[in-house]
Amino acid sequence: MAVLGSTGSIGRSTLDVIEASAGRFSTWLLAAHRSTTALLEQAQRMRPAWVVIVDEQAAAEVAPQSLPPGTRLAVGPEALDDLVRDPAVDRVVSAIVGAAGLRSTWAAVEAGKTVALANKETLVMAGPLVMALAARSGATILPVDSEHSAVHQALCSGRYADVRRIVLTASGGPFRTKPRESLATVTPTEALAHPTWSMGPKITIDSATMMNKALEIIEARWLFDMPAEKIAVLVHPQSIVHSLVEFIDGSVIAQLSPPDMRLPIQYALTHPERTDGPARKFDFMRSMTLEFEPPDVERFPAVRLGHQAATRGGTAGAVLNAANEAAVGRFLAGGLRFTDIAESCTRVLDRHPFKAEPTLDEILVLDAWARQEVAKWSGV
Ligand code: NAD
Ligand code: MG
Repeated sequence: MAVLGSTGSIGRSTLDVIEASAGRFSTWLLAAHRSTTALLEQAQRMRPAWVVIVDEQAAAEVAPQSLPPGTRLAVGPEALDDLVRDPAVDRVVSAIVGAAGLRSTWAAVEAGKTVALANKETLVMAGPLVMALAARSGATILPVDSEHSAVHQALCSGRYADVRRIVLTASGGPFRTKPRESLATVTPTEALAHPTWSMGPKITIDSATMMNKALEIIEARWLFDMPAEKIAVLVHPQSIVHSLVEFIDGSVIAQLSPPDMRLPIQYALTHPERTDGPARKFDFMRSMTLEFEPPDVERFPAVRLGHQAATRGGTAGAVLNAANEAAVGRFLAGGLRFTDIAESCTRVLDRHPFKAEPTLDEILVLDAWARQEVAKWSGV
């Protein structure tokens, strides 16, 4: 296994799954940005052949004797791309956060690896290019995102041609019942308090704005080759039903489990087999209530943006993703109001020089452009 972003929320859960696998999986590479203390501690535990620190400054402070025997250190994004392609690697867990995860995921797909994809941004930015690359190289992309893992499992119940729609569930985040007027003044601390999932800060803010669901609509569009109008969103506060697939006869197949990312991670590591694992299990002796409600797109306009970008395709996903990353950064730093996130993304998306079939380079140029636009944005 190569675990990219091993010090993050998904990365740490991945190591739990590997450790619980009783030797079925072994760790060949661990990579992180600059959290060297956590990475070195993981290296002592997992004894990988390689650790990669992407940030050069952070890597310069690492003393060689802090690595366990048999583990080597590589530095920088190019080194990471090279090592990901190594024949020793079978499966790659892509769990770097944001657009930064695209290049190493691209390297893994190009090398024909089986990729457990948590970094949804890869498909949001460059879905058609990445899926075409996988088709050429023979790579398999398995979703780690819990909703897409659920859809992947539910799709096994019928033929692709017989799918009426896929329904992505959403917790609704911490502001599900908050009145529209009070959303403008919520603080980063309030937005970081997610009711059901414990995740990294960026995706937690995305859950609060429901931009996460927008990104997931686009992810599903390319991963399952499903037109945007066949992808619906349903708010489900308990986060037990992870998504649903409706077939043309009206049957709806859902995947259920307690909210614990170790299950979709493990599914992507063992597929097509299943094994027992560390994820929490249901206690059916306890009563539970499951609620569902339609999303309120007036309070959470991001959902609409997701549908628009999935319908347009081309450069729309990359621009939305980059604008959102920049806006979330500004919100967390106290420089934008919560409601400005979707507002600035709408503006940048509307104004961008759309291209229907961009190259990877054109996508990266627009990614940088969208970030600059949000950096300049001073509200409406
Ligand atoms: P996180 O912030 O907890 O961790 C991010 C990891 O990426 C860290 O290991 C960090 O060192 C690394 N990283 C950051 N920038 C990097 C760079 N430039 N180069 C190399 N490594 C870098 O994030 P997370 O919550 O674990 O999310 C990771 C990905 O998984 C995201 O794409 C997110 O959307 C997706 N995801 C997360 C969850 C979840 O439950 N956390 C669920 C579904 C999908
Ligand atoms: Mg998800």
